[in-house]
Amino acid sequence: MRENRVRGGFPPILRAALQSDPELVATIARRIVDAHFPESIRADVLAAVGLPDDLSGVASAQEQARRRDPAFREKVLLAYQYRCSVCGHDLRLGRQTIGLEAAHIKWFQALGPDIVPNGIALCSLHHKVF
Ligand SMILES: [Zn+2]
Repeated sequence: MRENRVRGGFPPILRAALQSDPELVATIARRIVDAHFPESIRADVLAAVGLPDDLSGVASAQEQARRRDPAFREKVLLAYQYRCSVCGHDLRLGRQTIGLEAAHIKWFQALGPDIVPNGIALCSLHHKVF
């Protein structure tokens, strides 16, 4: 494609709208990131493309419509005996786990259910990598 100098872009009317309205760019970027990435990595995705991370962190309308099970985290961590399923990390301070998270195997954004078989206990590092 480079050898043939293939190029792409937006139709002129859309390009003009994007150039004249920076808020429109931010709105579109937020909708794309919210629709396709879990909240835990949205800030990283936005930073990777040079957008401010204040676009992330607020649940999308679709996410707000679906309620998360507040007990999901505890049920998953219990099922994995409070250890990262990759490295075995199990740091605790008293009864509080530190740096251990319950991840959805099929992302919540992809309609993954809040049930233990769809969960996996991961330390913060392995959750981000996952
Ligand atoms: Zn780990």
